[in-house]
Amino acid sequence: MKPPNLLNHQPLIYRSDQHHLPHGEIHKAAKKIIRKLTGAGYQAYLVGGAVRDLLLGLHPKDFDIATNATPEDVKKVFKGQCRLIGRRFRLAHIYMGSQVYEIATFRGSDSGDRVLKKGRIIRDNVYGTIEQDAIRRDFSCNALYYDIDKREVLDFVGGVDDLERGELKLIGEADQRFTEDPVRMLRAIRFEAKLGLTLPTEMAHQITAHRHLLHQVPIARLFDETVKMFHCGNMTEAYQKLNDLDLFKILFPNAVSHLNNPSWNSLLLHAFSNTDERLKKGLSVTPVFLTACVLWPACIDIYEKLRHQGKPPHDSLHHAASQVLSQQQKSLMIPRAIQNGVRQMWILQLRFKKMFGKGVYATLHHPRFRAGYDFLLLRSEVDAQLKNQAEFWTQIQNMPPEAIKSLIYGKRKKRRINYQLSVHEQ
Ligand code: ATP
Ligand code: MG
Repeated sequence: MKPPNLLNHQPLIYRSDQHHLPHGEIHKAAKKIIRKLTGAGYQAYLVGGAVRDLLLGLHPKDFDIATNATPEDVKKVFKGQCRLIGRRFRLAHIYMGSQVYEIATFRGSDSGDRVLKKGRIIRDNVYGTIEQDAIRRDFSCNALYYDIDKREVLDFVGGVDDLERGELKLIGEADQRFTEDPVRMLRAIRFEAKLGLTLPTEMAHQITAHRHLLHQVPIARLFDETVKMFHCGNMTEAYQKLNDLDLFKILFPNAVSHLNNPSWNSLLLHAFSNTDERLKKGLSVTPVFLTACVLWPACIDIYEKLRHQGKPPHDSLHHAASQVLSQQQKSLMIPRAIQNGVRQMWILQLRFKKMFGKGVYATLHHPRFRAGYDFLLLRSEVDAQLKNQAEFWTQIQNMPPEAIKSLIYGKRKKRRINYQLSVHEQ
């Protein structure tokens, strides 16, 4: 990239011959929205992750737009296609085709009307200029604006340079920026893993020092961020960093006492790399899967205790699941539908033990069979004693009905099931 034209107090401007942003990759609808706003007399730019990802040669997952039009102005321009959302951070959503585009109004630097609680921003609807907006953003690589007509990149904070050097740079001072919004610490770890940028040592220290602030973040938002981390495409590395900086246990305190169990760690790493691979191949992923993997050892600990007290297997597992999930709600608010999915995946691990009789059909047709089966395969990777279960449930999926029948009703002798569940089964 050639050096840009440097003007005093002006952004660095990278002309189209000075950057490699593939203009053709920008969604037509995003361009249409920007042109409609500029046509109505407003400024509007492509901003954030899309500009960053395009400059890095990645495919953006969404195209965010920044404008000097207020959300109400945007609503007037787009009428029925627009919905205003958010209280903490008011935004306009424009519906075009099957996509939703997020339009954010430039945030200002006047802190007068910003609502803070112990330094944490709980509402930020103070509007300003593009220069002020740039420094309210989190990292320099996320503060680049693309002018779709002039095909220029506007850089107020040296983001292009940082991207070229491969460095993740926080805008402003860490203490203030992490206090204002502790979620930025999780975002830093996610962007480092996802984009392959380097998180500077100083920032890492600052994250460790400010990690307790994550307890103040609303737990629903914390779960959303955790899911974004799970699905960033490189959770294997993100997990390593979360542990190095002591953040994993803030998100999943139940899992802490198991962190030193090598079998479980290995299971978890398998689960993460499996999800990373699926995303690389463009396969679907669900937050149910990794949530179930992370909380599994906490669940079987309680399960084994209840079994020891003589409670029947299914009751024990349901009870253990309820207990773990409700404890977990103190740190992350896992939506009810995801909790149900997690519980079903766990219950299937018990059902997989029964490889005879008509229960086999019910297991095969269970709505969560796929996720439960994938989890069984993962467990069998770290526990050789699960190999025969894994083989049975793999083979049976491709067998003709007659063969299944003779397999599951074949030997009539009474078979005992060992209902023990542990990372290493006995
Ligand atoms: P991706 O969409 O790939 O996860 P992104 O950077 O686009 O990454 P979004 O959450 O879509 O992330 O946010 C869009 C932009 O809004 C960011 O690039 C950043 O400029 C700004 N932003 C988002 N969250 C914050 C935050 N917590 N603090 C400051 N700026 C933020
Ligand atoms: Mg985005």
